[in-house]
Amino acid sequence: MPVRVGTSSCLLGNRVRYDGGHARARYLTDTLAHHAELVTVCPEVEMGMPTPRPSVRIVEEPAGTDRLVDPKSGEDWTARAEEHARSRVAALAEEPLDGFVLKKDSPSCGMERVKAWMGDGRSRGKKAVGFFARALLEAFPDLPVEEDGRLNDPLLRESFLERVWSRNRWRSLRASDPTPARLVQFHTAHKILLSTHDDALYREAGRVVAGAGKRSLEATLDEYGALFQACLRRPAGRGRHVNALQHLLGHLGQALPGPERQRISEAIEEYRAGTLPLMAPVSLLRFLFTQHGLDWPLAQVYLAPFPKELAVRSGGQ
Ligand code: SF4
Repeated sequence: MPVRVGTSSCLLGNRVRYDGGHARARYLTDTLAHHAELVTVCPEVEMGMPTPRPSVRIVEEPAGTDRLVDPKSGEDWTARAEEHARSRVAALAEEPLDGFVLKKDSPSCGMERVKAWMGDGRSRGKKAVGFFARALLEAFPDLPVEEDGRLNDPLLRESFLERVWSRNRWRSLRASDPTPARLVQFHTAHKILLSTHDDALYREAGRVVAGAGKRSLEATLDEYGALFQACLRRPAGRGRHVNALQHLLGHLGQALPGPERQRISEAIEEYRAGTLPLMAPVSLLRFLFTQHGLDWPLAQVYLAPFPKELAVRSGGQ
């Protein structure tokens, strides 16, 4: 199944912003667009606002509820924004997504730290969530969601891509008439990747797979899918990457000549010290697994969790 990522429309260069401009994010248009279908949403235009238009803002009521208001005219867009968010999110459920990139700071699309105001015009600081973003996050708690600016951070970008492509592989399995054997195969291919995120959830997912023949397949898949995505939500750590690399190195056994083993051990240590990116030991291992014809480690998604053109693998903190 093709990877499908939702995006705030202005991030793709569409001139839908309040000032008639756009907020093109080149990573999305020049890179991600070549590897994924991008599904655009502009909540403000879709709910009937013209372009250009007065900018709207989030106003916090004393009761703690938010309103979406045009501060110049006083026009209240709250009901229309809530209705649009409800119906758009329901429509998105019919065309499943693997991730979403939202425009930061927007009272409609901002995922966190959006400016909020009091009724008397005083600022309440950056504490709100955009109307559409809130509905999206509530409706799809497992969906990988990021803001455009955060994708400039290599670690956050890599984590996002890893989750997006993993969710797509999971969706593809579920759509393909899965069997217990295919679930075992899926879990086996993701073992090293999951182990770099959260040991407890990884082991729990393994227990669910081991019990696949003992209850309904549907219940097993539901539980496994939730654990799989929860595990990948946990940040991968540098120490866990080092353990994974050493585990993979162990698969080469005594077949590896001493100097080559020394070289790769050094690369792992340099990655641990932060002087080499994760990609260096991963590439060396992949080369050696291919050279020695080792199928199990070569089948590990960890070695290439998303298309390599999308990011330099940098690893956890
Ligand atoms: S931030 Fe969201 S609502 Fe604002 S222009 Fe972009 S897509 Fe439209």
